[in-house]
Amino acid sequence: MKFLPVLFLSLLTACSVNSPPRETRAVAATPANDVLIFREGDEWKARFRFAADAPVWAFERSALLQVGETPWRPESWEVLTPGVSLVRIGDFDVFVAAKGHVPREVTIRFQPLAKDLIADYDPAIILSDGTLAIYGGHYNLFPAESREAVEALREPREYPAHISLTAGGAPLLFEGRRVTRADDIGDNYVYIGDVALSPDDPVATILDPGLPGWISARLRDFTPSVFRGFEAEMGPHKSNRPMVIASWAGADFAGSSTGGSVTPGLITMRLEGKQLMKETPDALNRMRWFIAHEAAHFWLGQTIGYATPDEAWITEGGADFLAMQVALRADPAYDGKAFMADARGDCVAALAKGSLADARRRNDQRAYYACGSLFAQAVDKAGQPRGKGFPDFVRGLIESDADGKVTGAEWLKAARAFGVSADRITRIETLIAGNLDAAPAIDALLGD
Ligand SMILES: [Zn+2]
Repeated sequence: MKFLPVLFLSLLTACSVNSPPRETRAVAATPANDVLIFREGDEWKARFRFAADAPVWAFERSALLQVGETPWRPESWEVLTPGVSLVRIGDFDVFVAAKGHVPREVTIRFQPLAKDLIADYDPAIILSDGTLAIYGGHYNLFPAESREAVEALREPREYPAHISLTAGGAPLLFEGRRVTRADDIGDNYVYIGDVALSPDDPVATILDPGLPGWISARLRDFTPSVFRGFEAEMGPHKSNRPMVIASWAGADFAGSSTGGSVTPGLITMRLEGKQLMKETPDALNRMRWFIAHEAAHFWLGQTIGYATPDEAWITEGGADFLAMQVALRADPAYDGKAFMADARGDCVAALAKGSLADARRRNDQRAYYACGSLFAQAVDKAGQPRGKGFPDFVRGLIESDADGKVTGAEWLKAARAFGVSADRITRIETLIAGNLDAAPAIDALLGD
């Protein structure tokens, strides 16, 4: 699987950044499947044109439904081409033919399905007014020589595809642009609906009309202001105009749930629960945090990313620290000290068990956020006498970057140049190496 969304439930713990460029699929010279997702009257259909003969075509993304752990496609799709069936073999949904090869052209009818999958993107996001977004990545298939070959397979293969979407001339929003046909949608969502946008909007914000009024009001102002603020601090990011889709899943659930996922260029939020009907400081903070952290990744994550996931402290810690600064600006009562104290506690606990690089192999993603935000704070403090802060440091990383990737060593060198003392750089190196009582090193790093 190329990259997976990490779902946020109530509290943010992890998210996906450093996604591969979408263009990797679209190599002109090699044969590629051609897929058209289209709306005909009230019906959604998809027409697959395969680039090769094969007895089985398997779906690269074949995650099961979160509830029930069954395949989602049979619930949503109906094959219209005679002699072709959609079945499950091993870990994959596949098209198979009654005999011989799957025909080169297969058409299905589908009912967009807005349900959670296990560690993959919801096939569709459906808003209260019936407008929706469809995820293109679920239309990638690869050929297999037999059913047995698929049965034995554990990892999907990649096979090039051009996936387009059109809704009979209705307006779409794709990569922040209004179009009537979206091409090469790859691993992204396309929103089917009309969005009023002015050329200088830094982000396209799509708000479910069913959202409680206070949430829409807050998001309508907050979302563009976060992107504008980051742009003023760190310069332009390299993505197209970002999109935010906030959907409302209703108030049947007694508590509150703020979930979401991130694809290149798009932040999706899914809000739900009776407790969200009224504004509370907690709910507002969680929402702001979600937007600010994910918005920060358009700079630290997508414009420049880490060199390896072992160095996720660069992007996750940085995004967390930037989000904390935004939270403070948005609400002077926000407790930034408590946030940093949590980071300190979690970083100390993580480093007692081993190195920071290895944290993900210990299943401790939180370590990257916690320790990384402490390192960002050290940089921020070093800039303060000159009236500079961590965002200036990130701007410098972006401006001096050649390949879109920052290694830990490059980050440390830049931090030294930004004014972090040699002694404190050594502290950070010690902390990254881990396996120690980190508390004294952190105090020395962040003390006056
Ligand atoms: Zn993140």
